[in-house]
Amino acid sequence: MAKIIAIANQKGGVGKTTTAVNLGTGLASEGKKVLLIDGDPQASLSISLGYDEPDKLEVSLVDILSNVVNEEEIPENYAVLNVRENVDLIPSNIELSAVEISLVNTMSRELVLKSYIDSIKDRYDFIIIDCMPSLGVMTVNALACADTVLIPVQAAYLPVKGLQQLIKTIYTVKRRLNAKLEIEGILLTMVDNRTNYAKDIAMEVNDVYGRSIPVFPIEIPLSVRAAEISSVAKSIFEYDPKGKAAFAYLSLTKEVLAHGC
Ligand code: ATP
Ligand code: MG
Repeated sequence: MAKIIAIANQKGGVGKTTTAVNLGTGLASEGKKVLLIDGDPQASLSISLGYDEPDKLEVSLVDILSNVVNEEEIPENYAVLNVRENVDLIPSNIELSAVEISLVNTMSRELVLKSYIDSIKDRYDFIIIDCMPSLGVMTVNALACADTVLIPVQAAYLPVKGLQQLIKTIYTVKRRLNAKLEIEGILLTMVDNRTNYAKDIAMEVNDVYGRSIPVFPIEIPLSVRAAEISSVAKSIFEYDPKGKAAFAYLSLTKEVLAHGC
């Protein structure tokens, strides 16, 4: 039975997609069977994994969600792309934003994705959902079916205010929709250790949240190589295996494995 991890933060550009790609491929290289779900109409995850024209895909997450809503049967492996050994992807595209709007009028709209994931979760060890930068109905769908949420936080601005809103949403979902939901951890990303500012932010996150929410001891460094991987459709392990970002993402992978399936 898969462990389901939603990678979420309504703040844009904090490293959600980069973390989904590298944690997903990291877990796969440790022998785990991984499904990555692109929960963002921007489709950055699909593009990062080599589908650079996601709007041309014949089927995607959009079709899966529509089938659930219309109570139509979903054939096995429908919209599932095998992208690496042990890594499958359910891609998305811009049409997902229309589905988001139509879900508003659907009964049990927060549980549409859960209904699908429940039917496939015995096929994987990990299912990782890359959320869009909003706390709208798609992100709530991801939180409603997840076991844990991983929260990337960019160590380049004072993140405390935005995090409060996210954490409030997580606890609301936990109370109303998904009692088992836990926080996997806050992950500091794009950490530039040459600056005191990054250190101040790390300290502030630990001070404000560290007692109630786990903060990963490992930080993802600011790395040009990490920024380049989406355009070359590779994971950091393939693109720059000896670099500091690969080391950090390997440590994150081991930490997530240590938290258990
Ligand atoms: P969005 O909210 O738009 O979905 P996101 O939270 O998924 O964004 P990413 O797309 O992973 O964030 O990263 C934002 C940008 O920062 C991208 O251009 C990415 O290549 C770059 N980036 C990600 N991680 C790092 C890193 N460790 N060092 C430097 N640049 C990074
Ligand atoms: Mg993204």
